[in-house]
This record gives sequence, C-alpha cells and structure tokens, in this order.
Amino acid sequence: MINKIEVVEVACIGCGTCWVACPDAFREHDIGDDLKALPTGRLGDQHLMRAAAEGCPTLAISLLDAEGAVLFPTEEARAALQATTNW
Ligand code: SF4
Repeated sequence: MINKIEVVEVACIGCGTCWVACPDAFREHDIGDDLKALPTGRLGDQHLMRAAAEGCPTLAISLLDAEGAVLFPTEEARAALQATTNW
C-alpha cells in the first residue's frame, strides 16, 4: 500500500501528468519560468497515485510503503526508461 510519495525535482519536467491524474496527491509548483510537481502531503486514491507515477515520463515519482520500501519505479520500469534513452 502506498504510504508516501517523493518527487525528484531535478528529474521533473513539469509536464503536469501527475497533478492532472491525481490532484489529491500532487500539485504544481511555479518556480518562475518553469513548473515542477510537488506532493501535496496527502494521499490520493491508490490506483490514481500509481497511475500518476507510471505516467511520469521521467520516473521522477517514487511511491513508498509504510516501511519505506519503494513500490515504484520497479526495476522493469527503470530498465524500460533506460532502454528508451540509450540511443
Ligand atoms: Fe513532473 Fe513527472 Fe509530474 Fe510530469 S508527471 S509533472 S515530469 S513529476
């Protein structure tokens, strides 16, 4: 069960997928000439949080359980992203 969300700011490209998919858990943060995602500090629907993380094009979102174990990104998701960026 997802208990905590982390967003790696440097990896976020501000596409908006996460805060549109799950506005309970993610919000936009205006940093001047760019937008970044931030966790709202609340949890949203489990499926929507997962969909938001899976939809992040840079895997900037980590989903953790109550013990701090990373539920997402999975090794498979990291490998898939790596494969698309290795030209
Ligand atoms: Fe940033 Fe990923 Fe959210 Fe897009 S989906 S705004 S890249 S954290």
